[in-house]
Amino acid sequence: MSADNETRRTVAVVGAGPAGLMAAGELARAGCAVTVYERMPSPARKFLMAGRGGLNLTHAEPLDKFLQRYGPARNWLEPAIRAFPPGRLRRWSADLGEPTFEGSSRRIFPRSYKATPLLRAWLRQLEQAGVAFSFRHCWLGFANGGLRFATPEGERVVCADAALLALGGGSWPRLGSDGGWVEVLRGEGIDVAELRPANCGFTVAWSDVFRARAEGEPLKRIALHAEGLTANGEAMITATGIEGGAVYALSTVLREAIARDGEATLTIDLQTGMNESELAWRLERARSGQSAATTLRKVAGLSPAAALLVREPGPLPTTARELAALVKGVPIRLTGTQPLARAISSAGGIHRAEIDDNYMLRKRPGVFAAGEMLDWEAPTGGYLLQATFATGHAAAAGILRYLESGSGEPPPPAVPLSSGDQR
Ligand SMILES: Cc1cc2nc3c(=O)[nH]c(=O)nc-3n(C[C@H](O)[C@H](O)[C@H](O)COP(=O)(O)OP(=O)(O)OC[C@H]3O[C@@H](n4cnc5c(N)ncnc54)[C@H](O)[C@@H]3O)c2cc1C
Repeated sequence: MSADNETRRTVAVVGAGPAGLMAAGELARAGCAVTVYERMPSPARKFLMAGRGGLNLTHAEPLDKFLQRYGPARNWLEPAIRAFPPGRLRRWSADLGEPTFEGSSRRIFPRSYKATPLLRAWLRQLEQAGVAFSFRHCWLGFANGGLRFATPEGERVVCADAALLALGGGSWPRLGSDGGWVEVLRGEGIDVAELRPANCGFTVAWSDVFRARAEGEPLKRIALHAEGLTANGEAMITATGIEGGAVYALSTVLREAIARDGEATLTIDLQTGMNESELAWRLERARSGQSAATTLRKVAGLSPAAALLVREPGPLPTTARELAALVKGVPIRLTGTQPLARAISSAGGIHRAEIDDNYMLRKRPGVFAAGEMLDWEAPTGGYLLQATFATGHAAAAGILRYLESGSGEPPPPAVPLSSGDQR
């Protein structure tokens, strides 16, 4: 592709999250004139938020196991992830001055643990590659062969030789991704699965007493069981329910069970360090003279919140064996999912059948899509960002193939791409 300004192909990337930025860099390095349009005043706000608790970029487990984390979307995402695998993502981060390290449970983090230094270096690199940014540009839909944006100066239509939509899912809408594009694309006849909470908490009708005493308390070293699956880790009691890493790990099956049955049961093993017989034996020996609360804390080794949780389903059992069974499996009735706005990520999005192998919308030649707005979901652990980066990378390759094949002869720009752009 020629670097001559007269003949350079123009690409409009909409959405300055990790998917859009990854594609923008690849396209600019290949010689395209790239402008990134973003509704917020600054880029990658969710990426920065992801770095607040430690930016988990990807995961070090063997690739085959890694790919299984995408469930039914595995086959769809596999070529993109094999083309841009975890090792490549780690090298990319290192090249930006942030070598990665393997943390607990084989999760991969940048050295600083944060997103800010990585994003700063990344934006500098994009600027050097010639990527332009237009902030406060909210994409509204298609018009006159171009992309229609609301800007502080009024509406504007932008045309380009190709466009990439990388608009994210619907969680944490205050960071920019509010899923407003769903109805726009449905209006174009594109099949979009409803955005649903993923890696989310669940609502529980706690008793007033429990809520007052346990809200905000963590449950540590627990095992959760639901729908035949188990997740070890931690959870947090909230005023309206339960959330946290171990809950997120089971959130897909729990969400589907609630959709199917109207509710779901989560069983919590509060004492993973002892089997049921050992616990029953200890409880039996300690029973006389001690209050139930003291026994649960001192003999069963439960935290105050865990001891309260054992009492939540109803009166405590009278035998040590039954009490041990309860500590090893407290049933919690989940009445619903927490709202999408509070979830870590979204399930749903543009249906696979609507996207060709180049990540182009079949019904909109020249328009591509990548990142969380596609219909896949994955657990936390770095799988979300890995697929986001990989699909951004794959869509850039698809755009280059499309431009090189000459399949899209674009109409002349209704408004020159450079007008109002901040380089
Ligand atoms: C609290 C939190 C912690 C997380 N931690 C991790 C983690 O550690 N590891 C991990 O793998 N994942 C994590 N994630 C998930 C990860 O951040 C997302 O999966 C990822 O950011 C998705 O990237 P994306 O580029 O597809 O979308 P986004 O990052 O959402 O970017 C989309 C961009 O498009 C813009 N946009 C949306 N609509 C429009 C419009 N109409 N016009 C113009 N611009 C628009 C948005 O403002 C946004 O900048 C976390 C998420 C949250 C909320």
